[in-house]
This record gives sequence, structure tokens and C-alpha cells, in this order.
Amino acid sequence: MLAEKMRPFLGGSSAIRRMFNEGERQRREFGAENVFDFSIGNPNVPAPPEVADAVRYELDNEDPVFLHGYMPNVGYADVREAIADSLSKKFGASYTKEDIVMTVGAGTALVLTFYTLLDEDDEIIVFAPYFLAYGNYAANFGGKLRVVPANTETFQPDLAKMESLIGPRTKAVVINSPNNPSGVIYSAETLKALADILERKQQELGISIALISDEPYRELVYDDDIEVPFVPDYYRNTIVEYSYSKTLSLPGERLGYIAFTHDMDEKSDLVAAAAAGIVNLGFTNAPSLFQRAVMRCLDARVDIGIYKKNRDTLMDGLAAIGYDFAKPQGAFYLFIKTPLADDNAFCDLAAEHHILMAPGSAFGCPGYARISYCVAYDTIVRSMPAFREVWEASAAQQ
Ligand code: PLP
Repeated sequence: MLAEKMRPFLGGSSAIRRMFNEGERQRREFGAENVFDFSIGNPNVPAPPEVADAVRYELDNEDPVFLHGYMPNVGYADVREAIADSLSKKFGASYTKEDIVMTVGAGTALVLTFYTLLDEDDEIIVFAPYFLAYGNYAANFGGKLRVVPANTETFQPDLAKMESLIGPRTKAVVINSPNNPSGVIYSAETLKALADILERKQQELGISIALISDEPYRELVYDDDIEVPFVPDYYRNTIVEYSYSKTLSLPGERLGYIAFTHDMDEKSDLVAAAAAGIVNLGFTNAPSLFQRAVMRCLDARVDIGIYKKNRDTLMDGLAAIGYDFAKPQGAFYLFIKTPLADDNAFCDLAAEHHILMAPGSAFGCPGYARISYCVAYDTIVRSMPAFREVWEASAAQQ
């Protein structure tokens, strides 16, 4: 009965979910207070109060038949207009509601975009470390990932390598800044250099190459002097994938959008194809109540001071023990070099000390591990002796 293509997925969940499940098991066995679970990026900071107010407002004031009904597949027109206006005002861009497609989080935004762009054997270029789901999303449509190996000095993209991978089957390059798992933000200079290469390659090969900017962490930035450049400012053929999962702490509500740059190549066809994709892939539309509620609080923000305090305490504590990492400027992850060369073995060793982390291999970057610091501050403080034990146990194994 089972499709052959599903067999590779039967081994269970990803390495990240495996660690999360191990955390569940350990909590039952040892008590939640004795487990330091840094495995997944599930925000611990509550959604801003404006969200609950907006949901209540909608429930109290909107016609329930309308509120819980179907709407155009691409989302409510007034919601898309509010998002287009907000983006245009914030970034000096010129979006209209016709450029916006509401989606079921960034995951679905990416799936729809890949569906829209990929024919069998088309290629998407990604930079390690990267969100591993990109590969499965592309494979759904016969697409293939070409991976630029990590530049572990800075975790900025290796553009020369990217250029060497671009060919006639290249449909898109995906970037994710602030980055999961490194926390690095791509600078304006980097984006300009990247855009210059893409422009040149488009000319040379006579094709259009999309730059997919996967930005669910856009507003999670901790240092005043750092800005997240707006990618469409640098490259016209940019497709932004946005999500409210992290920036408004609403991961379970499943809301995001695709913003097609107003004057990008084949824009109207791409939007029409994405609209067809929502139907063909069975999503039908993004969640109705949360579209309407989020429209009322587009400028609301979670308290990022909580994440910043977590980040700083974690960095200070781990650096004092001896762990090596690049300072994360955004998102809520710290990507450490594992003191054991085998990152899976290191994460297993850490799990014996009740620390759950995601191995770097799960992001195409072996030799590293991701610590999700979207956890209670107290968990970070109390985990430090265990991190020291793991450091010492690793040294003993070498
Ligand atoms: N892209 C990246 C880089 C992510 O880290 C995540 C979630 O962790 C997603 C996309 C998917 O997010 P969503 O919950 O909006 O589907």
C-alpha cells in the first residue's frame, strides 16, 4: 500500500524532533526541572497582548459566518492590503495587495513557492547551515538542492561557491537571515554582492533566478547597531517568505505570507500559480480568524528583551566553560562548535546529562550543535553545571 517515496521518512522524525521526544521522555522520568531542553524553536515569550485583544474583538464583533468562512484562496483582500501597506511604509517599497499571498506559516509559503517555480530536476541553491526541510519541500516537486558548504569562520554565505553552482537549471537561491541555526544576519554588502552575481548570471544564462528570502525571524534582532536589510531593496526578483510563528509567537496558529516583489519577472503569473497551488496542495486558504486578528496588530512585537537576556547569559556561561561559537545577532539560536568532532555523538552525550540540543548535521553542518534559547531564563542558568559536565566528559573521550 505505502508509496515507495515515503519509505525514507519511516525512520521517524528528524534529529531535532528525536531530541525533542527524548526531552519528553526525560521529563517524565526525571521531572521537568531536571531536563534542559534546547531542542526546538518553540517561542517561550508570550504573544503580545494586542493579539488576544484582536482575537477577542473579532469574535465579539464579526459575523461568525464571515469570520469562520472561506475567503479568496490567496487570503482576505483587506488583510493583504494592510500587509502590503505596512511593508511599503516600513521599507519604502511599493507592494499592493496583488503581490501578497497569505499562507499557513513560512513552511507553506516555501512549499507554494517551490511548487510555483520548480519543474522536474530544477535546482535550488541553499547555504549551509540551512533549514533542512528545504530539501523535502523541493523534492515534493522533483526539485534538487545544491548546497553551498558552510563558511564556519563567519557563517556568512560563500558567494564564490554559490556562483560556481549556478547553471541553466537554477530556479532560485534561498537565504535565511536572521539565520536558523547560526543567528547570523547578512549585511547589506553581502546582499549587494549576492545580487550582483545573480544579475550577472541571469544575463549570462538568459534566465530569471529568484532570490527566496525566508525571514521568519526578521524582527528578532538584539543589538541596536544591527539592522536586517530588506532583501528586495537589493534584488528585484526577490520573493519574501514571512511568518508570524516566531515574531508574534504564534507557531501553532499557522499564519504567514509570500510577498512577491511588485515588478519582478512574471509576477502576475507567479501569484496566479501560487493561488492555484494553495488549492492543488489542499490548503485552500490560510487560517481565517488569525488573518483577521493579525491584520489588527501588524506593528505589535514580542518582548525581545527576554531573548536577549537569555542569549547574553548563555553566551557568557558557555564561553567561560570554553565552548566556541559565533555571536548570534538575531533569531533565538546559538550554534556551538561541538568539542567532539561527531556532533550526533556529542548531542547524545549531552542528552545523558539531560541537555537536549539539535546536531548541526540536521542543518547540513556537521561538527556543530544548535541550542534554542527560547526557554525560561532559569533553565539557562541551571543548565550551566550540566554544560560543564558535558565539556569535561567530551575532553575525557578525546
Ligand atoms: N524557515 C525557517 C528558517 C524556520 O526556522 C522555520 C521554523 O522553524 C520555518 C521556515 C517554518 O516556520 P513556520 O512555523 O512559519 O512554518
